[in-house]
Amino acid sequence: MEDIFARGDALGPAKVIHVFQPQLGLKGVLVVDNVACGPAIGGLRMAEDVSTAECARLARAMTMKNAAAGLPHGGGKSVLYGDPKMARADKERLIRSFAFALRREEDYIFGPDMGTNEECMAWIKDEIGRSVGLPCEVGGIPLDRLGATGWGLSQAVEMAIPYCDFSLTSARLVVQGFGSVGKHSARFLAERGVTLVGASDSRGTLHDPSGIRVEELIGIKNQGGSVLDYPGGTKADRDAVIDLECEIWVPAARPDVLHEDNIQRLKTKLVAQGANIPLTLGAEQYLHAQGVLCLPDFIANAGGVICAAMEYHGAGQTEAFRTIAEKIRDNTQQVLAEARQNGILPRQAAINLATRRVERAMTYKRWGIF
Ligand code: NAD
Repeated sequence: MEDIFARGDALGPAKVIHVFQPQLGLKGVLVVDNVACGPAIGGLRMAEDVSTAECARLARAMTMKNAAAGLPHGGGKSVLYGDPKMARADKERLIRSFAFALRREEDYIFGPDMGTNEECMAWIKDEIGRSVGLPCEVGGIPLDRLGATGWGLSQAVEMAIPYCDFSLTSARLVVQGFGSVGKHSARFLAERGVTLVGASDSRGTLHDPSGIRVEELIGIKNQGGSVLDYPGGTKADRDAVIDLECEIWVPAARPDVLHEDNIQRLKTKLVAQGANIPLTLGAEQYLHAQGVLCLPDFIANAGGVICAAMEYHGAGQTEAFRTIAEKIRDNTQQVLAEARQNGILPRQAAINLATRRVERAMTYKRWGIF
């Protein structure tokens, strides 16, 4: 894997920039993968064990995600070596100096990722004027509080219903990971008549076949509680969520939670991926062979990045939510139609869609990828 990105391929990476300033303890990497569609948007990840290869892989994932979302933005990513929980003043100095070192890389717009948050984006905005995922006071749209990704996921599910043999109002929903993405997905789907029957978090699983009161469960989570604190239903361990029977199963926790060794346990008809890469490719292929529809992550969970791009272009939350719905509905429809017509995985159809858009955009550029 490492070699492919070190060598590059037809799409990129266009630029790999290493930033090193030992007196400041500053060590970071920026990978701008492809900017044919527009300046790259991608997160700044801060951790002690990041690497250039990881950065390049994540940058490519952003090229595909932004293109699949139909955004006028390419893909990039940056990583900063360090403990994200270091003293605030030290973290601010590192992030500001990293941004300053990259101030002329106008092809890259910083966003939040693991180890960074809206406050970090505000420092970068102050330093170089180029970041998304900002606090409200400086023009940000609070996408996690509003549930931009859950809103988008509910649109994708609605568009998938004609490809399924159940209706939204008869559907039972199970959500793995009742955090920002999970709870808002449940809320928006419940508004469409879906019944939440199972939810999990890192502490355990809640199951109630007669229906869980979504707003009440969200209230418990918002006050720092667990799904296990819900009054009613039955409680089980964290992984029991995989065995709950339902029509719609939403993974919204961690990568690779469903794999070749546990995918047989899933009893559902539609998997709408809220988390990033929650299923291995083998698990997706297994579900496809069983006739279970799988909405790929970078189509179904693109609400967050669409919202961030809208913020960058000065939109407010109403316009951002309208755009998320429009783009995700359109993209889901295109992907599912191509998957059905060619008998391929929806993920492959999504990759084809994104690749076509990037390749087309490259034909409009004098130098191809930049
Ligand atoms: P979050 O931290 O708000 O919520 C994650 C939830 O998952 C928490 O309730 C946590 O207790 C639970 N959890 C953790 N490990 C678990 C496990 N093994 N089993 C069951 N539950 C577990 O995070 P989030 O922002 O909702 O993001 C969830 C996933 O979605 C991540 O993979 C993230 O990268 C991805 N994602 C998030 C957004 C966004 O807008 N926030 C957008 C696209 C993708």
